[in-house]
Amino acid sequence: MVNQRIPYGRQNISEEDIKAVVDVLRSSHLTQGPSIEAFEKAVAQRCGVKHAIAVCNATAALHISCLALDLRPGQELVTSPNSFVASANCGLYCGARVGFVDIDSRTWNMDINALERRLASGSIPQVVVPVHFAGQSVDMDHLGALKRRYGFAVIEDASHAIGATYQGRPVGFCDNSDITVFSLHPVKVMTSGEGGLILTNRDDVAARVKRLRSHGITRDQALMPGPSHGPWYYAQTELGFNYRMTDLQAALGLSQLHRLDEFTSRRRQLVHQYHQLLESLPVVRPWEQNGNQSAHHLYVIRIQHHLLDPSRTKNQVFQSMLELGIEVNLHYMPIYWQPYYEQQGHKKGQCPQAEAYYQEAMTLPLYYDLTDDQQRRVVESLRQSLGL
Ligand SMILES: *Cc1c(COP(=O)(O)O)cnc(C)c1O
Repeated sequence: MVNQRIPYGRQNISEEDIKAVVDVLRSSHLTQGPSIEAFEKAVAQRCGVKHAIAVCNATAALHISCLALDLRPGQELVTSPNSFVASANCGLYCGARVGFVDIDSRTWNMDINALERRLASGSIPQVVVPVHFAGQSVDMDHLGALKRRYGFAVIEDASHAIGATYQGRPVGFCDNSDITVFSLHPVKVMTSGEGGLILTNRDDVAARVKRLRSHGITRDQALMPGPSHGPWYYAQTELGFNYRMTDLQAALGLSQLHRLDEFTSRRRQLVHQYHQLLESLPVVRPWEQNGNQSAHHLYVIRIQHHLLDPSRTKNQVFQSMLELGIEVNLHYMPIYWQPYYEQQGHKKGQCPQAEAYYQEAMTLPLYYDLTDDQQRRVVESLRQSLGL
């Protein structure tokens, strides 16, 4: 029998998930109905935050979050180079400049000490976007202290981290940030097909992102500049978008939210097993900070190429894994190495840790349905691909 290909990540959809979506299909509202509010309320409750606002994806969530925090042309947004391009693109959407702070050599998250040095030198951005890489929270207490001292806004890009905890509390509580964003893309820890969530304790930000997700329109008299003309009336008070989530997606999201702990606990078990199975191989395994629990969106290793036969290149190792049916991936090339960012004047060399990381990183398959047998096949394939 030919071995099945093993992807690096994939969703799990249960019969209950399917039923939840079908129920909406049979109902009167496919969008702008009651499932959205039910989902938003459940997320807010779980994370211990005042507001949760559902949108069509996390990229849209980051965009209108930046707008709600008044990010403007000429100002700066700073993020981690070790992320998906959306963490930085949101700044460009607003006409702002984007800057990058190098990563910590252990967590592979933004190095908050490096950010602190940048701030101390007088370079204060309008918005900082920490990314909870692979599902592990950034040191938010340290970042929060800097936020209070220097006055910048913070959007946590927690696209990898729904289901994670920081100091025993679910990521998303926003004590040290203005906003937290989750992604519900199928490859993430839980899914709504496509989807994003904006969490905040600020009433002004919640009102603003709700307006921005729906054309900049409000039906709330209190938010209108003048009197209503009648029951049909709505007022567009700024330029917004159609970034809404549908009720089909919200129903799937809510159903998956009930399974989130089950998802993260299986992922944690697989991570524990990877740690053991990889112990004797020349790879650096991911490091977890004490007291916090990662959502384990990704399992990334760093291959110690200097310990391998020098004729074996990184590309050969990847190629060999793919030939063995293991769909490894690489999260991430530094964002500023992207051709678009180079065209904007970003130079190689600005974040040495992120660049060294990129030379070694490999994402191994990790998802709820990965079996123990498949996991052993991944590790055996890796041993073979490393030439050992
Ligand atoms: C997936 C991802 C996004 C974008 O999420 P979408 O919901 O696909 O728009 C943003 N930031 C990070 C770090 C991501 O991994």
